[in-house]
Amino acid sequence: MMALTKVKYCDGCQKDVEAVIVERPATYTFKGETFELIERVLQCPYCREDLYDELLDSETMRILTKLYEERVGLSLEEIKSIRGQYGLSMDLFSRILGWSKATIARYETGKYIPDNSHMQVLKKLKEKPETIDEYFKLNMHKFNEKEKRKILVKLNSYDQNIVEKNLVKLMNINYKMHEKTIDSGFRSFNFYKLVNMILFFAEEGIQKTKLMKLLFYSDFLNYKRNLISITGVPYVRLPYGPVPKDHDLLLSAIEKNEYIDIDYEYMNEYTFINIKAKRNFDDTLFNKEEIEILRQVKEFFKNYGSVAISEYSHNEDGWKYTQDRDIISYDFAETLSIGD
Ligand SMILES: [Zn+2]
Repeated sequence: MMALTKVKYCDGCQKDVEAVIVERPATYTFKGETFELIERVLQCPYCREDLYDELLDSETMRILTKLYEERVGLSLEEIKSIRGQYGLSMDLFSRILGWSKATIARYETGKYIPDNSHMQVLKKLKEKPETIDEYFKLNMHKFNEKEKRKILVKLNSYDQNIVEKNLVKLMNINYKMHEKTIDSGFRSFNFYKLVNMILFFAEEGIQKTKLMKLLFYSDFLNYKRNLISITGVPYVRLPYGPVPKDHDLLLSAIEKNEYIDIDYEYMNEYTFINIKAKRNFDDTLFNKEEIEILRQVKEFFKNYGSVAISEYSHNEDGWKYTQDRDIISYDFAETLSIGD
């Protein structure tokens, strides 16, 4: 028990008293929920009446708020992030839900905690963001055409974000089965490292076929020297050379996440696929030796076009002694024609 005192006027005793702070268990009903807590209150030492104290009162309120958040669900930070994930203005977001704009503003500033029914809605939007479509359908008639179009653009680009995130997840799962095996050069697949390796080679634009080979040579050269790959990517043998497993899916995941542009050029019966970096290479993801390998590989093949590098790769044991569409074992790095 705290032995602090404070001079207060007691209405019961009709005089100033040395009021004492006491701790005691209390039960409160807050937004329809019942909570047990230990509160601190000021008491008159003579008549034992509670004396109002603003500081202690707001302390109890804070405890209640915290207990409510813990039980019902979302913290202030989480509440704030919900509207942000759609990129919607307060005005549009509140009208989609059928709430007032002031309500959203109060929730996001932490001035009010949503009551239970509003909290359930926010929780649902947090856990399953796509459920906002249901609210939009329900309140669609309240928007004019221009607003409807604006909302649809926002919600569609949100769906697009989900697709992008899921593509990365998919690639991670796809490569996970090769983790810590010779297929991946004993490295866990690192999407961002691979992306940046591509950014390194595609800074000024590069043909896809050549890029695929440069990735292969970088990973295999690092394995040759250090018995571990750089990116954890498994490579398969295709007729025109080694390529990352499921490379089309991989490139499309990287493109959809806005790291690269993929351009198609048609000439006679040929299609040329060009890849160009849209962001800067982040060298902090690599160690010194890996950076050195990337530079060496780039330099070694700088005068090779797609056809030349394809033909060059056909002399590698990894390509010669692997069945078509099979994974090329990193064991073949030992006899890789480049590096010593
Ligand atoms: Zn009193």
